[in-house]
Amino acid sequence: MIFAANFKTNHTRTSTKEYLATLESLAQNSSDEFYLFPPLSALQSHIGKITIGSQNAYPTKKGAFTGEIGLEQLKEFEIRTILIGHSERRVLLSESQDFIAKKFDFFKNNGFKIIYCIGEPLEIREEDELKVIEFLAEQFNGIDTSYENLIVAYEPIWAIGTGVSATNEQIASTHQAIKTICDKPLLYGGSVNAANIKDILKIPNVDGVLVGSASLDPQNFFSLTK
Ligand code: PEP
Repeated sequence: MIFAANFKTNHTRTSTKEYLATLESLAQNSSDEFYLFPPLSALQSHIGKITIGSQNAYPTKKGAFTGEIGLEQLKEFEIRTILIGHSERRVLLSESQDFIAKKFDFFKNNGFKIIYCIGEPLEIREEDELKVIEFLAEQFNGIDTSYENLIVAYEPIWAIGTGVSATNEQIASTHQAIKTICDKPLLYGGSVNAANIKDILKIPNVDGVLVGSASLDPQNFFSLTK
């Protein structure tokens, strides 16, 4: 199974180092796959069981993009993994599908492993399952779904950080539909925690999880794998 931790704007460079050391020792004999997305200021070269990825970057080697980082800055820390399309960037930072597809292409052409996030807002979920699938299908516009280094994360926006996960039935049917659009490893994300993880991992077509709040403590995050 794949376990990915998204710190968002939590943790510092110092606390991320401590976190990594703890998680490395907990995970050393695990057969699961681990990814950690710390804030940009905590990116660091790391060799071990846990792969560090960037929560974001601009699709450029370097240049005049105030407040952004590019390939050159990621290369300094041997970062070869990136999160693209997270709903917080789509919604809060108004990233359009066109821009997201451009970013995807750039990092694909540079051989990155991409965790590509998709997810619908509550008003779409409240319509019907067909509308949800149509909405999610549009989030694949311009995306090379055959890219070999692609992992998809289905994260319903209404389930992120709310404590209300999608139901097992919703995850099952949506994951099944997503796999027909893009047959790649598929993570579920949205209020995953110690109470619901066991059931979520049993659902067909769930290949792992992308976790926000419940990943912030390394023991807590690792306990999700047990
Ligand atoms: C996320 O933002 O990717 C996420 C899944 O957050 P949380 O686990 O806190 O819902």
